[in-house]
Amino acid sequence: MPPADPYLLTPGPLRTSATVKAAMQRDWGSRDERFVAMNKQVCSRLLDMAGAAATHVCVPLQGSGTFTVEAVLGTLVPREGKLLVLVNGAYGRRMADIAGVMGRRTETMEWPEDRPVDVAEVGSRLDRDRSVTHVAVVHCETTSGILNPVRDLASVVSAHGLALIIDSMSAFGALPLDSAETQFAAVAASANKCLEGVPGMGFALVGAEVLEKCRGNSHSLSLDLYEQWKGFERNGQWRFTPPTHVLAALLQALDEHAAEGGVAGRGERYGRNHRALVDGMERLGFRCLLPRHLQAPIIVTFLAPADERFDFSQFYLGLSARGFLIYPGKLTVADSFRIGCIGRIGEAEIGEAVEAVAAVLDEMGVTELAPAGAA
Ligand SMILES: *Cc1c(COP(=O)(O)O)cnc(C)c1O
Repeated sequence: MPPADPYLLTPGPLRTSATVKAAMQRDWGSRDERFVAMNKQVCSRLLDMAGAAATHVCVPLQGSGTFTVEAVLGTLVPREGKLLVLVNGAYGRRMADIAGVMGRRTETMEWPEDRPVDVAEVGSRLDRDRSVTHVAVVHCETTSGILNPVRDLASVVSAHGLALIIDSMSAFGALPLDSAETQFAAVAASANKCLEGVPGMGFALVGAEVLEKCRGNSHSLSLDLYEQWKGFERNGQWRFTPPTHVLAALLQALDEHAAEGGVAGRGERYGRNHRALVDGMERLGFRCLLPRHLQAPIIVTFLAPADERFDFSQFYLGLSARGFLIYPGKLTVADSFRIGCIGRIGEAEIGEAVEAVAAVLDEMGVTELAPAGAA
């Protein structure tokens, strides 16, 4: 019997605990003292998670993660600035698209989706091009599941005196990111990925001195992080209708994150999920796109089997009927699909998912699991 709620083995939305869902069973007013206090708690815990309480401020924002990324880029990069976006997947490309729509001068450096951003190449580009003011990168590129070397990149970017913007949406809370080790001007993340809250808000951790200089930069009224921050400073309130239930769920999710052992504990569970998933799928005969050392324990890209009886839509529906939702591939380099290891799931559910995969393949009559071109 599939569970009442499907297991979301995707890059988001993700499975949340019953207690996180239960935290939304009441209404708060936006000026309610308790609600104002809850906001403060959430922000201070998020700053602590990145070791950034002394240097950065936390600015929460309504909307999905992309809204926060757009707000960070629009608020931090001034109109006369120049943004260099490091692209090795769809989320890097999205940052370049956002900056383009805003009319900021934007350049990209690009790598294939199965290769991490090359820090040395970025360093020599910055040596040559002195007009760049900001560099943007994705921490875990959810397109493939690859981990980018943000710490080494941060050293190079700060050695050039530039500001680094990190989209850590699919890593924050599960993979370490400490402001003392990785110097960043801003990190963007959201409530519903590794933090296991519900979707509906994001947040940015921004260097206080950086943000102080950002007044008037933004192209947008509602996505202006400087004004959003000043709003909180003035009266502890959101400028526009706050996502009250989402915030309450996030506070509960942060309690559960701490109880699990914080970033280390969460990262370990996802690491176990990841090993169980890859071991199980490889045992069936699947191959991963990435070698293990490049793969973050967040979401795994599997290469589609060459067997002509394999059809992703049928595969998806078969798994869905058994209570597991997976995600199509988003790659240009290979035909693939993705299975996530994040959200409120453990090795037992991953084991069941692998069994369901085997059953669906059987149903489809797929026997040859090697991808096209594999020996
Ligand atoms: C999920 C995600 C986002 C935000 O996506 P939304 O659909 O807007 O929540 C941004 N960047 C990365 C790397 C992500 O994984």
